[in-house]
Amino acid sequence: MTFKNTATYNDSTSQKAFNEVRINVAQLLRAPIGSSSSYQLDETTGREGARHVEGEVTISRTGRGIMVKATITAHTTGICSRCLNPADSTLNLDITEEFLPGEIVSADVSRQENLDTSTIIDENNVLDLSEVIRQYTLLAAPTKPLCMPECAGLCPTCGHDLNKGPCECPPQISVKPIVETGTLRKGE
Ligand SMILES: [Zn+2]
Ligand SMILES: [Zn+2]
Repeated sequence: MTFKNTATYNDSTSQKAFNEVRINVAQLLRAPIGSSSSYQLDETTGREGARHVEGEVTISRTGRGIMVKATITAHTTGICSRCLNPADSTLNLDITEEFLPGEIVSADVSRQENLDTSTIIDENNVLDLSEVIRQYTLLAAPTKPLCMPECAGLCPTCGHDLNKGPCECPPQISVKPIVETGTLRKGE
């Protein structure tokens, strides 16, 4: 038996944060191996760092637990590395993780060394995708976000946001890069 349904995951009582992306898998855990179910994810998190996640989550029964495959678009807000204004990014996350029931994990001693609690199905048969999404978002996030590709940054002298126009400071005299000092020292 394979049951496949498409449901909109929307918990109106949730506080719209990543830790609310939870799926009850009690029914699927009782289903034969290979059974699967799909969900449309469309959550406004309101949380600093990731404002909105949307996409499709497919969960499948494996021999030991639940395989989660998700294709998610995460809209995140970071800080522009040049001007310190908010910088929006859209990240595409391809998530593949097997979640295991807690009792299987605790019975498997070899897994306890590097116990990853983010992929454990809790005692209420709830699979919480929040931590996994958070981890994938961190990995995919740009290390130096920009508010826009041509961001002019801040004036190094007065801190004025140069995107709003020039400041009163005299033009910068070009300074030799510090890297050269390092090169000289190397030859000493
Ligand atoms: Zn900027
Ligand atoms: Zn200035």
